[in-house]
Amino acid sequence: VPELPEAETIVRGLRPAIVGRRIRCIDVVHADVLRQPARSFADMVRGASIVAVERRGKNVIIQLDRDRVVAVNLGMTGRLLPVTGRARGEWSHPAVRFRFHGGGVLVFDDTRRFGTVECLTREQWEARSARMGPEPLEPSFTARALHDALSASRAPVRSWLLDQRKIAGVGNIYANEALHLAGIHPKRQARDIDRARAAALHRGIRRVLSDAIGAGGTTIRDYRTALGEAGSYARRLLVYGRDGSACDRCGSEIQRTVFGGRSAFFCPVCQPEDRGAKCA
Ligand SMILES: [Zn+2]
Repeated sequence: VPELPEAETIVRGLRPAIVGRRIRCIDVVHADVLRQPARSFADMVRGASIVAVERRGKNVIIQLDRDRVVAVNLGMTGRLLPVTGRARGEWSHPAVRFRFHGGGVLVFDDTRRFGTVECLTREQWEARSARMGPEPLEPSFTARALHDALSASRAPVRSWLLDQRKIAGVGNIYANEALHLAGIHPKRQARDIDRARAAALHRGIRRVLSDAIGAGGTTIRDYRTALGEAGSYARRLLVYGRDGSACDRCGSEIQRTVFGGRSAFFCPVCQPEDRGAKCA
């Protein structure tokens, strides 16, 4: 499932391939990925030029001229593949194709079609972006700000990390990895995390996200970079998907538990459930 590092890797791969291109027409193969009628989407996008490609949280933001923005949420299995010349990219379920003047296509491919594609005005996009949490790799995201935000919530910390209104771009893989690095049990109440642990979590979040970007993301199954390649971070995962294996740090067996509808993975020794519990 694409999270921040996967979206960032896709954005970096797309930039050299599509910035400066002008959109000639749109083929909508599966209109269910669009969050607006296909006709109005095509009318907003046709003839526009791509001026930049950015990331916000897990979303790929294709900025057009005329103050328009195409926001792509990759969902579970979404891919954005630029195809030039006659080369055939690795895709199987194209949902939307952006055809460029002078040749070349950008394909939004999505096997399960939980992804979404939408064209917004810049103003609409900025309003939506303002409702999302801070970007964890921005300098303005400090350990103090994280601690303050955690202190206001009774949610289990793993659920807090997955809430895009609290922090942008973190999904289940990197939430579990960051909690392991910080020695925090995934079910610990956010407000029970003290300042020192919050600082460790802040470091953990930044480290796993930057290392995963460096590795081109994590491919469990479907995710591919804009070049159609798998990311290599999966082999560096410490706890995610490793239940039953030995913890690299202490040798204990990694456990899996399910809450909030999602699996959580942790080492019961490195991430004890009662650590830091408040005295009655
Ligand atoms: Zn351990």
